Amino acid sequence: MRLVSLSLRNYRNYARLEIELSPRLNVFLGQNAQGKTNLLEAVSLLALSSSQRARRESELVGKLGPEARIEAVAERNGRQVEMSINLAVSAGESDRISKTIRVDGQPRRAVDLPGELRATLFWPEDLNLVKGGPEHRRRFLNQMLVQVEKGYGRALAAYRRVLEQRNSLLKSVAAGFEPPSALDVWDTELARHGELILAARRAATDELGPLAAGNHAAIASGEAFGLTYESSDLPLLEQLAESKGDDVRRGSTSVGPHRDDLRIDVAGADARSFASQGQQRSAVVSMKLAEADLVEERSGERPILLLDDVLSELDGERRSALLARVGDRGQVIVTSVEAEPFPAELIERATVLCISAGQVAACA
Ligand code: ATP
Ligand code: MG
Repeated sequence: MRLVSLSLRNYRNYARLEIELSPRLNVFLGQNAQGKTNLLEAVSLLALSSSQRARRESELVGKLGPEARIEAVAERNGRQVEMSINLAVSAGESDRISKTIRVDGQPRRAVDLPGELRATLFWPEDLNLVKGGPEHRRRFLNQMLVQVEKGYGRALAAYRRVLEQRNSLLKSVAAGFEPPSALDVWDTELARHGELILAARRAATDELGPLAAGNHAAIASGEAFGLTYESSDLPLLEQLAESKGDDVRRGSTSVGPHRDDLRIDVAGADARSFASQGQQRSAVVSMKLAEADLVEERSGERPILLLDDVLSELDGERRSALLARVGDRGQVIVTSVEAEPFPAELIERATVLCISAGQVAACA
């Protein structure tokens, strides 16, 4: 899997960009606020169909007009695929966006795009994976699984829909408008989609744990690392029955995969409470590299590795170990403020370009 070329029109601070990418290591250097993260965001949008960074998709549209466009040629198993995403701000409603996705000219629904271009992204916000709330770790699992597990995205969407319906029904039951038995049909549906999500997440955690541990040990000179999916062992339908009384009082559903967590242990302690800055970064990067390995194992295709400003806060030893680990496996796109942290022999083999004010060019 690799990106052959990328073209942007009026996307964030890129008025117009046309680049070709090396099938190996690509390094983009640039000062702050020049467009490094924006570039990786555009690639991740092609992989996931939505931005993990923008609060509103209208943010993605630049200043030159109401439309932004991302186009790319990707190569998978020797075959080229053309992909495009068009974002248009609706007239008179600056927050509403209409998104048109095409693969080889054919329209695609956003939910059906993931899997077409596989990418694993690390950016500094991902440090929330260790320090942030459980929602960040659930999102990590979800984003990985929609790319590799057929039916996961649909199960997730269905689960969220049913959850919303159950929650609004809980309020009606509490107000006496509906009998508690009205919940039964929703519980069955919620458990059906929820069990699918749980099984996929548990299996992925079992697979991811040893892979991430191997990466972490390599980057952090042998430090221990572990992952545990934290959830109840009872069947979801039973949990829902047990929590029904509480849920009615609360007006929300207190059990299910939307409440689970993924515990991360570093050097034998809960990383959320105890990991240092460098340990957090090493742990997150190790998990991301493990994600790439898992996606490769499951899909037979190495995802593109997108690493935004990954080297800062790591000491020299961890930097070299990380870059060695990333190495020459598949296509890698790395951004950095400076060339200095990269070993000279790596830079020699890489394609290095400089980003300045939304323009990409050979470095001066
Ligand atoms: P840093 O090293 O600080 O992380 P960066 O190179 O990653 O910087 P980006 O996050 O890519 O910087 O942002 C580059 C610029 O793009 C910022 O100055 C930002 O204000 C600008 N920008 C973001 N969205 C838009 C938009 N819709 N239209 C125009 N400019 C935008
Ligand atoms: Mg940035």
